[in-house]
Amino acid sequence: MEFSSLELCIFVMLFLSIGSFVSTLIYRFSPKNNLSLYKLFIERSNCDQCKSQINSYHLIPIFGYIFQAGKCKKCNHKISIFYPITEIFFCLLGIGIIYTYGLSIFSAYLIMLSIGFYTLFFLDFKYLYLPLSINLSIFLIGFSGNVFFSFSLDETITFFNLSPITFSLSGFLIGYSFLFITNFLYKKISTENGIGGGDFILFGGIGSIFGPFSLGPILFISSLTGIIFHIAKKGKNSTEIPFGSFLILGSVIYFFIKRYELFKNYLVI
Ligand SMILES: [Zn+2]
Repeated sequence: MEFSSLELCIFVMLFLSIGSFVSTLIYRFSPKNNLSLYKLFIERSNCDQCKSQINSYHLIPIFGYIFQAGKCKKCNHKISIFYPITEIFFCLLGIGIIYTYGLSIFSAYLIMLSIGFYTLFFLDFKYLYLPLSINLSIFLIGFSGNVFFSFSLDETITFFNLSPITFSLSGFLIGYSFLFITNFLYKKISTENGIGGGDFILFGGIGSIFGPFSLGPILFISSLTGIIFHIAKKGKNSTEIPFGSFLILGSVIYFFIKRYELFKNYLVI
């Protein structure tokens, strides 16, 4: 879709605000905050350090950060660069999606999915934490996308005689139980959890989006990128890998490979 300059302005403001919402979501869901619905939607934003309330005009995406020169006006505490980066990321992503798919339900679906994936990616990456409510929304987005709009349905559905509902639900069940069983067996051998419980639900949610046949390739890409990351990070002694983040990364890579038929002559996925 081509934009007029007015439309472009509106979209820039809209997606900067969505980015600002997402960074707040990540901040407020982080385990150091005791999250309540009041905190999530009603409470005014305040400084991380001195708890003083932030002026409304300092909350404007990007400009707020520039006006304050990246610091709290009261206590000079540095404001994380993660906020403006998230705002710019969603601005570019949102405009890219609308440019490619127009003002459609598919665009809205991709944007919702991006919000869920981005939030979970960074919560797991920073805190090894996958909140149940966001995990379940990933499942609901995947399920409704397939049942009502057939977003990920492909030729396998006729081949295996699946309905959109069974396609999505079997994706969830197989994803969830595969990691659950893997962890169960691992626990038998090593007496500790190898995979977090949030990962089971997330992998199930991914199955509900892309269907049961996507799970093998996604798990392969996720494990491969996770292992590369772990090796690259060697030296800093960390044993835990944010596996949920890599499941999300794997899904995004899978989406692009499938959508744009990359490596078409080499891969069958
Ligand atoms: Zn402050």
